[in-house]
Amino acid sequence: MNIERNKVVSFHYSLFETDGSQIESSQGRDPLVILHGHGNIIPGLEKALEGKAAGDHVEVTVEPADAYGERSDALLQRVPKKHFGNAKLEPGQMLMVQTQQGSRPLKVLKVGMSVVDVDFNHPMAGKTLRFEVDIQDVRDASEEEIAHGHAHGPNAHAH
Ligand code: ZN
Repeated sequence: MNIERNKVVSFHYSLFETDGSQIESSQGRDPLVILHGHGNIIPGLEKALEGKAAGDHVEVTVEPADAYGERSDALLQRVPKKHFGNAKLEPGQMLMVQTQQGSRPLKVLKVGMSVVDVDFNHPMAGKTLRFEVDIQDVRDASEEEIAHGHAHGPNAHAH
């Protein structure tokens, strides 16, 4: 069975920067389980998996535009300190914050008396990424999975 929209794909992956240093890997953990064609993973990787099958090894280099996007200066922002409540803030710290677009990571750049400079760029924005993927399993999605837009079952989405 080949990977196409509305298939559920299980795979192991390792993610590298272009200099060869490893960012993360699923080896030694459960494989990642995704519903293909629903944007569960970055576009460049989804494209690379299209048409592949269980047992295939896929290596792909993904430019920022097809990964986490380019870095944007518009995402460097100054926000009132009171938005963070009593949280202790330090430069370099990563936080998850709730916004109107959902939960987003931010990095604290500078902490002032009443304002905090933060970076809303995704930590991997602007990076060219190399993936090595081993496809474990490909199956048809259930109607419920397609309706929800994500895979269910062991190692997959939990409600
Ligand atoms: Zn669901």
